[in-house]
Amino acid sequence: MAKITKEKKLQILKEATKENLIYTDTHFHSLEIEKKEIDIKNLLDQMEKMSFIALDIGINESDIESRYNLLQDYKNIYLSTAIGPWGVKDSAEKHDALIDTLEANIKNYPIKAIGEIGLDNYWKYGTKELQEDLFIKQIHLANKYNLPIIIHNREADEQIINIIKKISFKKNGIIHCFSSNLEFAKIALDKDFYISFAGPITYKNNEELREVLKYVPINKLLIETDSPYLSPTPFRGKTNTPLLIPLIYQEIASIKKIAIEDLCLNVKRNLLTLLDCS
Ligand SMILES: [Zn+2]
Repeated sequence: MAKITKEKKLQILKEATKENLIYTDTHFHSLEIEKKEIDIKNLLDQMEKMSFIALDIGINESDIESRYNLLQDYKNIYLSTAIGPWGVKDSAEKHDALIDTLEANIKNYPIKAIGEIGLDNYWKYGTKELQEDLFIKQIHLANKYNLPIIIHNREADEQIINIIKKISFKKNGIIHCFSSNLEFAKIALDKDFYISFAGPITYKNNEELREVLKYVPINKLLIETDSPYLSPTPFRGKTNTPLLIPLIYQEIASIKKIAIEDLCLNVKRNLLTLLDCS
């Protein structure tokens, strides 16, 4: 196959980015994008110009101050806080101290969600038990403050199903970067969760994922970049930013057979409803 030139890629992006549409990115990491030597202020200004709505996702208990300082002037960018499975400690007691810090974050900053939290059997941080302990404690914290959760799931379908089935949630949550099967999607939807699709929905070999997407009702559908990771085709392997999200919208609109305008409106409404911002 002929290599796609840079000009061709930009042309594809330009065609996907319809003017006057308001895009919503339900999962991005501003500080991680900045580490990729992207001019983050410039990116955020561009997003603001496009009336972009986005949720900036926390990855540890101490990133909130820098994220807040960076993002506080952008009124359409919302903040979550949490510790992902990579932040697991070697004892449950140490997790309690982390929860105290997260609780202070909730009190001191305009936090709209607890995320990302979850389980990761690919990188196998700590032990299964300790990952579960940190995950469940953060779910209880979210319930205490009536906040939605954002779930990171890597090769942990069964464990996550067992956990979420047992808990009744005050607020529903998001299965972020959905990459599981239809059965998992059905269980998540039964628990009133939202399903969020990222760049991999555009990858050639992901036919099964596209079948799941067809099943997810439009009022439970979210779209994200997870930038700087998981760039959509044809930028796969390159640094991702929220500005590439029109490519994901375009793909999803064509699979769901709906107009991109309607898709934008629905995803925006879904996220703002979940975050209590509408
Ligand atoms: Zn993420």
